Amino acid sequence: MNLIQKSIIGGLVLTACMACSPVPSPSNVAAHNDAKSVSNAPLTVADARDFLAKVEADIQKLSQPAAHAAWAYATHINYDTAKVNAYFSEQLSVLLAKYAVEAAKFNDVDVDADIRRQLDLLKLSLEVAPPADPVKAERLAAIGSELSGMYGAGKYCRDEQTCFSLVEMSAQMATSQDPDLLLEFWEGWREVSVPMRSLFVEQVAIANEGAVELGYANTSELWRSKYDMPAEDFPVELDRLWGQVEPFYEALQCHVRAKLSEHYGADIVPLDQPIPAHLLGNMWAQSWGNVYDLVKPEQEMNVPNVTQALADQGYDEVKMVQQAENFFSSLGFEPLPETFWQRSMFQQPEGRDVQCHASAWNLDDVDDLRIKMCIQKTGEEFNVIHHELGHNYYQRAYNQQPMLYRGSANDGFHEAIG
Ligand SMILES: [Zn+2]
Repeated sequence: MNLIQKSIIGGLVLTACMACSPVPSPSNVAAHNDAKSVSNAPLTVADARDFLAKVEADIQKLSQPAAHAAWAYATHINYDTAKVNAYFSEQLSVLLAKYAVEAAKFNDVDVDADIRRQLDLLKLSLEVAPPADPVKAERLAAIGSELSGMYGAGKYCRDEQTCFSLVEMSAQMATSQDPDLLLEFWEGWREVSVPMRSLFVEQVAIANEGAVELGYANTSELWRSKYDMPAEDFPVELDRLWGQVEPFYEALQCHVRAKLSEHYGADIVPLDQPIPAHLLGNMWAQSWGNVYDLVKPEQEMNVPNVTQALADQGYDEVKMVQQAENFFSSLGFEPLPETFWQRSMFQQPEGRDVQCHASAWNLDDVDDLRIKMCIQKTGEEFNVIHHELGHNYYQRAYNQQPMLYRGSANDGFHEAIG
């Protein structure tokens, strides 16, 4: 799936945790006026080193409470956890924005490659950059918290009595071949986002203001600057890479459309139109493994049915995770810490809202590794568990690095490892 959906959310969490900074009270933020101290005299390499040491110390101080607030919110969505999470998220964003602006003051200082990279990472550390105006910064954090709460608690209601969660609908999307039901769920889930529209528009406007204050044209340019190349080169590189795989995707789309058309009929899958996305076995049409039986090649292929094998061998959610851990142990990685098993969320709990989208966390940036998933006992989810644990092992692999390096080499790299 959700791999993209999951990835995005995982990435944000990761950034938040990695970036998590201390929880200065608003007065603390005002009192830490580093800009002043570094602007009086010409800046030196030693100043850059001192500045990064201070940034690292402040980040470490705030990172744990902020990460715990984010975890509490993701696993217990309610009014209070939303407030606490929004508060920490804002503190963190404001601190990082302040330091990002200060990092830019070293742009012309002749520092070594290591310091330069840490300064650059600091400037690019925020997904959405809050403006210096505290009212706007607070609003930006509140919008982020509200949007993820609406997404996590989102349900589609067929009528007043019959509502479906994302997990329930995803299970149907994976197995049903009733085109009317699939279309109903596809469209129904997209009703959840309609009330988000005005919040999203407002979020973009405020984040663009923050990006401009950091010296970028807008948030898009800030995001496109994260790949060790000029922002304007990024889409060119993307097109170049897409060109390499495009012929394969064209052929695959053509084949899958033809097979689905045979199964559902040309009135539902016309051969001269794009494939209707609701028929691909996934709420986002981004992973097509669930329709394999409908589209597989004519010749016999020996592809194991993992979902069936999990059922036959009595796998529950915990055993699925243990098996995934065994895979990584077989590659030579240390076992997961005991706290992973005590603190992770593997199943959708009864009686409260949670963010079900799979994500991988390292709450103390050392070894408080966890995953958060509402595991379905399917082969697809078995893959996702391996993917999430891949994030955890990568997080642990860089836990001795300077704080600013405790993250993905770029935001695609974590997903590639997973
Ligand atoms: Zn991921």
